Amino acid sequence: MEVIKGKKAHVLAVPFPAQGHVKPLMKLSRQIAKRGIKVTFVNIESIHEKIVASAKMAGEEEEEDNIILTSIPDGRNPEDDPNDTFKLLESLRITMPGLLTGLIERINSSNDQEKISCVIADISIGWVLETAREVGAEPVVFSPPSAAALAVIFQIPKLLEEGNLDSYGTVKNGEVISLSENIPAWRKNELSWSFPSNLKTQKIFFECSQRIEKTTNQYTWLLSNTCYELEPSACNLIPNLLPIGPLLENQNPNSSFNSCNFHPQDTSCLSWLNSKPAGSVIYVSFGSLAVFSQQQLDELAFGLELSGRAFLWVVRPDLANGNGSRAVFPEGYLDRVGEVGKIVEWALQEKVLSHSSIACFLSHCGWNSTTEGLSRGVPFLCWPYFSDQHHNQNYICDKWEIGLRIDPDENGIRTRHEIKEKIDGVFFDSKLKKNALKLKEMCEKSVGEGGSSYKNFEKFIDHLRK
Ligand code: UDP
Repeated sequence: MEVIKGKKAHVLAVPFPAQGHVKPLMKLSRQIAKRGIKVTFVNIESIHEKIVASAKMAGEEEEEDNIILTSIPDGRNPEDDPNDTFKLLESLRITMPGLLTGLIERINSSNDQEKISCVIADISIGWVLETAREVGAEPVVFSPPSAAALAVIFQIPKLLEEGNLDSYGTVKNGEVISLSENIPAWRKNELSWSFPSNLKTQKIFFECSQRIEKTTNQYTWLLSNTCYELEPSACNLIPNLLPIGPLLENQNPNSSFNSCNFHPQDTSCLSWLNSKPAGSVIYVSFGSLAVFSQQQLDELAFGLELSGRAFLWVVRPDLANGNGSRAVFPEGYLDRVGEVGKIVEWALQEKVLSHSSIACFLSHCGWNSTTEGLSRGVPFLCWPYFSDQHHNQNYICDKWEIGLRIDPDENGIRTRHEIKEKIDGVFFDSKLKKNALKLKEMCEKSVGEGGSSYKNFEKFIDHLRK
């Protein structure tokens, strides 16, 4: 492979098209750009449009020094279902290499001194690495989830060979997958590709994970949104892993960079939090993908009310039922909770988690939410929905001991009484907060000057500059 050298470094960052992937890659890109290296950040058009629209509404800058936002078509037909992620992935696999090659050629011919020297692609779209090589750029991957989630993917061939998994990726009855005694084991249906309610879907997730495993020899660097101290055993299992996280948003209140939100942020939550006493508010958010039945939504609404505590609850317009119909609250609910409960469609999550009035985070345990919460010393109430969220919950509750599970009943419903009981539990158990503050300190050290993630990042920057 011939890598372009001797000119100014220029990175092309290519995220997987989902909120939990675009945001952390943008945080990484911003850190690279801050070190004087130009980054072109390329989304598919539909996502680029959402991000630009949300940024405009929030008064954020569309572009800042050294970062260019651009887009490529997603290659789908107009009649395709816009919510069919698998179809989208299939069409990206076919069309993305050609579109990216075209984009890189245009960039390279427009400025001879700023040719694309490195492509950082999300690990879920490994086919981009081949394109990088073909245009003479260095192929680098970025892995947004935990090192443990990646470590288990890298073990798939062995697990299949030894008969621990069937061809759908299901763990044999009664067995658990354990990679080390220091990493919580994965029980049946806790693997990131598990989708027990629809085995056909699970098979597709499993095949995607197998494709990730096959990219191992195609990149020169593997950057991961974790830090060594948080999960040393998992990091040790992955050769050449470079933990550079947890990646956090710049907390400077004067900065107005584009933070890559798919939904417009409701800034009123911050002034509302200002009116609440320290350590009094439950922050409730389930990320960008989780969907709820009306019955479950009602139970959560009543559980929060029963707790008698203040809460800030993110209810995305598509949270209910998953069919785009807006959430309906129990009759008279909004009047009853009044000033005690604030409901928004999308929050400035990292600013919220940094606010002194936040007591705990009722979360679906996506890895971004997990690392954003623990970096702020906030204890968790765990309500995983799918994918790696179950294992992140095990880290939170069993390994780090910074949170409590909200358990479903025999019908799969988390009842209002269970919700209230666990809320009380997290407020009364001072050990959870104490552990959370220790973890916060540990992560701060790792990303702070001289820390392990800091040094890893510097190593990567030095390499880009060579
Ligand atoms: N997020 C946000 N505002 C919200 C809810 C979520 O900015 O109201 C951000 C959150 O900070 C995180 C991302 O959306 O960076 C969600 O990623 P995560 O991995 O937690 O969950 P996913 O959406 O992938 O399920």
